[in-house]
Amino acid sequence: MVLDKPGQPLQLRDVAKPRPGRGQLLVRINTCAVCRTDLHVVDSELPNPKLPLILGHQIVGRVEEVGAEMWEGPEHPDSRGTKVAPTFAIGDRVGIPWLGWTDGECAFCRSGRENLCDRARFTGYTIDGGYAEFTVADARFCFHLPEHYNDVEAAPLLCAGLIGYRSYRKTGNARCFGMYGFGNAAHLIAQIALYEGRDLFVFTRPGDVKTQQSAKALGAKWAGGSDEMPPEKLDAAIIFASVGPLVPAALRALAKGGIVVCGGIHMTDIPSFPYVDLWEERVITSVANLTRRDGEEFFEIAPRVPVRTHTETFPLEEANVALDRFRAGKLKATAVLLVNPN
Ligand SMILES: [Zn+2]
Ligand SMILES: [Zn+2]
Repeated sequence: MVLDKPGQPLQLRDVAKPRPGRGQLLVRINTCAVCRTDLHVVDSELPNPKLPLILGHQIVGRVEEVGAEMWEGPEHPDSRGTKVAPTFAIGDRVGIPWLGWTDGECAFCRSGRENLCDRARFTGYTIDGGYAEFTVADARFCFHLPEHYNDVEAAPLLCAGLIGYRSYRKTGNARCFGMYGFGNAAHLIAQIALYEGRDLFVFTRPGDVKTQQSAKALGAKWAGGSDEMPPEKLDAAIIFASVGPLVPAALRALAKGGIVVCGGIHMTDIPSFPYVDLWEERVITSVANLTRRDGEEFFEIAPRVPVRTHTETFPLEEANVALDRFRAGKLKATAVLLVNPN
């Protein structure tokens, strides 16, 4: 399913089967989950995508071929202290995330912040992704996936899970933990927050009683509209919705020293607010991309919780239907495209 130009529907087309280069895996794709970032690309809200482009950065598949010359360079600095770069054999199950490649040598890579690499390439954005039968991926950035999850269940973990987890770790040991928006990523991270004993406060669109009820059913201490104040001050809040005015709203709900984490790649403008709302060491930060360490940590904790994903499946050919329903807020769960499901 090829995006020729933002603003247009994806086109079902036969394209050449990619060939794995140095250090790459050829992967036969089983499933690919749909992310809000895919919508941002289609809707021209993110600059300079590769065109034409195959979207999709939450890919689960099987290794069909291993590039003739596997990577033999020094271990990537960010992997220091964690597992060595994973190795893959033909037939292995593999997960391919948003971070597709980094240079390993810029100041950010050398200081354990490969998520900020100056030359990073991103799956389904600046390199082709998973709305297809095959893709190639740099083996160093791929993950082995926990057996606990089947191919449909595992797909949403690869972005909503990983980048949600990075946002969550930015909140430190916050006891009173808030979430603005309760979509795919929030739902996954809420389960980890509850597992770790946080008090969870969930903010939805004003009047969205149904979502508030489902947050409470999951274990939230309180759920209400984003126009309400929580019953207790928050030590941290993650904003999962791409709505700038939520930033000053969340700031007003924070205790001293609290942090607001903006978890999305795109957000509407943030209105101005009085300095007193930031005073007393409150912090606003964004989260960009992921490191491989985030992935290793997340895939270690997720099956222990165990984090459950809720999915709604579509055949690959119906990717446009999935995107349209996502845009219209009509999905009941994370959309997962079925390519070669088993
Ligand atoms: Zn770099
Ligand atoms: Zn994503």
